[in-house]
Amino acid sequence: MAENIERVNCLIIGSGPAGYTAAIYAARANLKPVLYTGPEPGGQLMITTDVENYPGYADGIMGPQMMDDFKKQAERFGTDIRYAMISKVDFSGDVHKVWTDGGDELHADSVIISTGASAKWLGLESEKRLSTNGGGVSACAVCDGFFFKGQEVGIVGGGDTAAEEALYLSKLCPTVHMFVRRDAMRASKIMQERVKNAENIKVYWNTETEEILGEEEVTGVRVKNNKTGETTEIPVAGFFVAIGHKPNTDIFKDWLDMDDVGYLKTIPGTSKTNIEGVFASGDAQDKVYRQAVTAAGTGCMAALDAERYLAEKGIV
Ligand code: NDP
Repeated sequence: MAENIERVNCLIIGSGPAGYTAAIYAARANLKPVLYTGPEPGGQLMITTDVENYPGYADGIMGPQMMDDFKKQAERFGTDIRYAMISKVDFSGDVHKVWTDGGDELHADSVIISTGASAKWLGLESEKRLSTNGGGVSACAVCDGFFFKGQEVGIVGGGDTAAEEALYLSKLCPTVHMFVRRDAMRASKIMQERVKNAENIKVYWNTETEEILGEEEVTGVRVKNNKTGETTEIPVAGFFVAIGHKPNTDIFKDWLDMDDVGYLKTIPGTSKTNIEGVFASGDAQDKVYRQAVTAAGTGCMAALDAERYLAEKGIV
């Protein structure tokens, strides 16, 4: 083996609740885990506000604080945390080869995938232009909402993310125009109630976004009622997209079984993928529950499965 290729027992890819929980378990089992954070250290919870449903935090906790706690706990047991990204893998042999975005090659006896999921976009040209130039389209109200303090904003989506972000924006903005494409929201009952009780969130049912208006900066949004066919232009200064997520699994598509959206398939009741020694956890393999606590649970499963696998192979 070339000298510059590092060999690790247990490589963890991703740093959300799944990755850090896997790291805590793997480090305590003396697997000497190496964790690559990926492009968004801490994952989706870094862009959320209050987390009220994670057991153990009786008064709730801010998402970034919670992830810092997870990280510290993983570090306490000796996890080697690296702020870089794995950009290529080769799972063809007994030893799993991975490459970082800096070009380093590592060989891992076991790999735990916890790469999570990323925000989806509507796919409009105007959305792309006005999000990449900082013109006022964003997929993260908590990151960018403050820029629109005192101004009218729009948000598309009807899930828990959209509800949570609309509520966040309602504390900053005089009116939040919320566009829901059906006559019902997908969000949990409690979040729907909160949206309905917020006086300055105006919900537009059966409404689709046709175009985000403005050349350099958002000036408004054109929406269409899909029942009546009526289109309306609403002046807004900012537009938020909160329509769900796509699993971050593209680099595994040549090796691992996944569904048509890209969620990794695991053997039911385990974290095992179709490749021996490669385990999947968190949102990358879960399109049903997608909660911090379920991600953490599957991260724990992956570390325990990796530990047993390495022990059976006589590696640890
Ligand atoms: P979801 O997939 O749950 O919801 C996506 C929403 O966007 C749906 O209302 C969907 O409409 C709508 N949508 C999708 N595509 C389009 C489109 N092209 N145009 C307009 N609307 C569109 O995603 P979320 O990100 O909201 O939530 C993901 C998971 O995370 C859920 O399980 C949720 O419960 C959880 N979560 C929990 C939180 C918490 O507990 N604090 C906070 C945030 C998320 P339709 O219903 O018609 O498909």
